[in-house]
Amino acid sequence: MITLHAINNATQAEFMTLLDGVYEHSPWIAEEAWHHRPFPTIAALKLTLVRTVREATDQQQTTLIKQHPELAGKAAIANTLTAESQHEQQTAGLSHCTQDEYDQLQKLNAAYFARFGWPFILAVRGPRGTGLSRREIIETFERRLQQHPDDERRECLRQVHRIAELRLNDKFRHEPALGHQVWDWAEALSQHSDRPDNLTVTYLTDAHRACARQLAEWMAGCGFDDVSTDAVGNVVGLFRGADSESKRLLTGSHFDTVRNAGKYDGRLGIFVPMAAVRALHQAGRRLPFGIEVVAFAEEEGQRFPAAFLASSALVGAFDRTWLDRRDAAGTTMREAMQQAGLDDTAIGASARDPGRYLGFVEVHIEQGPVLNELDLPLGIVTSINGSVRCLCEAVGTASHAGTTPMDRRRDAALLAAEVALYVERRAASVPDVVGTVGMLEVPNGSINVIPGRCRFSLDLRATTDAARDALADDVLAEMKRIAERRGVACNVEESMRVSAAPSAPAWQERWERAVAELGLPVRHLPSGAGHDAMKLHQAMPQAMLFIRGANGGISHNPLETITSDDAELAVQAFATLLEQLAADGGEGAAR
Ligand SMILES: [Zn+2]
Repeated sequence: MITLHAINNATQAEFMTLLDGVYEHSPWIAEEAWHHRPFPTIAALKLTLVRTVREATDQQQTTLIKQHPELAGKAAIANTLTAESQHEQQTAGLSHCTQDEYDQLQKLNAAYFARFGWPFILAVRGPRGTGLSRREIIETFERRLQQHPDDERRECLRQVHRIAELRLNDKFRHEPALGHQVWDWAEALSQHSDRPDNLTVTYLTDAHRACARQLAEWMAGCGFDDVSTDAVGNVVGLFRGADSESKRLLTGSHFDTVRNAGKYDGRLGIFVPMAAVRALHQAGRRLPFGIEVVAFAEEEGQRFPAAFLASSALVGAFDRTWLDRRDAAGTTMREAMQQAGLDDTAIGASARDPGRYLGFVEVHIEQGPVLNELDLPLGIVTSINGSVRCLCEAVGTASHAGTTPMDRRRDAALLAAEVALYVERRAASVPDVVGTVGMLEVPNGSINVIPGRCRFSLDLRATTDAARDALADDVLAEMKRIAERRGVACNVEESMRVSAAPSAPAWQERWERAVAELGLPVRHLPSGAGHDAMKLHQAMPQAMLFIRGANGGISHNPLETITSDDAELAVQAFATLLEQLAADGGEGAAR
């Protein structure tokens, strides 16, 4: 086992010996990194090694990639792998391939090398370090074989760093136990789904309620003093402060998902504080303030045409007309709540008194490529985009596709098509502004009938309210012009309007200090996605921490993933933020 003390006091030659084998046949990386001692943390050491490679020449990077063996390849068969590689390939079960799997891997190895000119690199011990399944390995191999060579080369380097991270963990006997816990919770919760074939958990379905029960059970096991479910179905865990009347830090995120979702969106923001509270409980500690963790029941707006129901309730902004909205099966929200045993008359009472809280913090997976491309595990959010969502219905005339001349048509779908193209053009003309038509449907359409109706959605976002409003105004004005020209009516129902939410400076600074204390650089970024924090922003100061998403940062997709090492850093950052608040006497919100 090696220690940071040994690393920081080593001669260059000793240092290279201590880190021997971390990067496959590439001692130059340790040789160069030695100049950057001392390393305050293992995370800082890892990052320095990553940076050394980032700053190396293209040639050096390519050589590094080429030092790695093929998976279950010739070197594995001839027994000439390094001890590290052999251990990793065995952990992933590559030494027990069936003949079929083995043949498949050989074919993939050959096709991959022919396409890219280097061997396929995958950290086969995976995001938790316990080994990917052979099926996962083969699927990843097949998917990456299709990537653009530039993207694939960068992915190979990231996998090289992940391999190095796991090897370093072994050398230091560093076990990211808190991160494993977070990762395992995410895995276990993902077993509940509305659908047998993918992860989908929408508001108040059976799977949703099973998730809520599971979260409540885990929270109780973590040592929260009080675990309850409120009127909209939020699961709320309270860990009291030393003085039970003291103010509380509010935190949390959502556990509902989009359709065919990833396992980490929202849920990390529940698990990370749970892990931190569990550690406090196990240490028998109380802080000068309480910690209230909310597992928000609804954020994604999937089942009913309204989103952020759960956080709206917390800030007293739950719109009771939402209760009459219907899901695709015709069930109203009120009925769904009654079936779930929730009392909609109590929603008003769920509103929190801001005077009792210090502020709100939320941990979330980035859901974008920025941190992954920078090789940084954590980032600090400066502001959350404002957004407007509308549901639109164009109404023209359904008539015969064969007999109606082109100049006599009132085609509702073509209005939607023109609007969608305008949204694309207008949004692209301004930086940091985005617009999407994500739903587009001709109800009861037929192949030989001109669309008489067309339903479509608008999702418009920008970093400031002014930019968002200018976009929305332009889109609606253009829609009106198109409607007049085509003689088609168009009804627009705004389903959501959320203000941009800049982080509270004092709270953003706490995240900065927490990340810096881990020996990591402080990287700022705006949030393109909306989050529960943007609702809480209406009531109290808020700031968010982002965790890097691997696989190019993809989200709202089953490929969404994180490592347990990154989750560990997030828990540590959260715990550090708690310690800072405790040192401030819990009077953080006063600043
Ligand atoms: Zn989310």
